[in-house]
Amino acid sequence: MSAFTARPGVVGDLDYPGGISALDVHYVRPGLASSHLIVESGRAALVDAGTALSVPTLLAALTRRGLAYTDVDYVLLTHIHLDHAGGAGALVACLPNAQVVVHPRGRAHLENPAKLIAATKAVYGDEAFSALYGEILPIPASRLISATDGMRLYMANRAFDFWHTPGHALHHLVIHDRLTDSLFTGDTFGVSYRELDVDGRPFIFPTTSPSQFDPQQLKDSVRRIAALSPQAAYLTHYGRITGIAKLAEQLLTQIDQLVGFAHELATSPEPHKALNTAIFDWLNTALDRHGFPADAALRHHLLDSDVELNTQGLLSWLARQRNEAKLNQ
Ligand SMILES: [Zn+2]
Repeated sequence: MSAFTARPGVVGDLDYPGGISALDVHYVRPGLASSHLIVESGRAALVDAGTALSVPTLLAALTRRGLAYTDVDYVLLTHIHLDHAGGAGALVACLPNAQVVVHPRGRAHLENPAKLIAATKAVYGDEAFSALYGEILPIPASRLISATDGMRLYMANRAFDFWHTPGHALHHLVIHDRLTDSLFTGDTFGVSYRELDVDGRPFIFPTTSPSQFDPQQLKDSVRRIAALSPQAAYLTHYGRITGIAKLAEQLLTQIDQLVGFAHELATSPEPHKALNTAIFDWLNTALDRHGFPADAALRHHLLDSDVELNTQGLLSWLARQRNEAKLNQ
């Protein structure tokens, strides 16, 4: 259990305009990861599914909102990392009418999750894997829809457009809700925890986690999101943010800064430790500027898991770069 208690209205389930809610999937800590519920004319969609362990929480949230399991038409996956898609199989086993929409590159891994499980175990280790993700169920082909770039889908009369946005992962897409002119960005538009808001201003930073992080692709995708100039973005980590043009500029600068740290520290005696420290210090300084309370324990509590994943992802990207350079020699 966390030593920190959740602040109501800051973490947990949050309700937004347009029938949109962020439902806490209780991954790692409260307020870290969400599944967004969209309700339109009695029909429902979930954007991202949490882990297999999130399923009872999500089903209870539907019931609390007066929705039957048969009311859910879609589970829309931004990408197949297990904090977003690990629960999709167990979830649709309970939602008889739900189709799962996924990037074409992710589809085979949902039908047969063996490789996805092995890749995630390589990042987290066997023991942490079970505690974090539970049992990953395959999804029958008949329930899967591959979302091509530019595909449009309707729920009742509400249109959703799907755009491919590689950079965080090759199997990443974002979903444009035309009714509210908002985008569900998964991890492409970084992370922004509501606990870090100061006077309503969001604190944002990119996620560079393993194993397909690619800075150039990620910057192109952030630009693509900004070019759609949505009213709001809904981040899986966590909830709604506005002022997208300005935040996009910040993310573009930050991606370059993170890559700069990685290049600079790759040859140090302990690159992992050095990079981890550098990323935390960098966020710490940014939080000072942001006006966030100088509570070191709270800052570590909120940032350590991302700092570690960003460190791993940057180092694995650098290793890939070096291998490619060697192959090209
Ligand atoms: Zn994520």
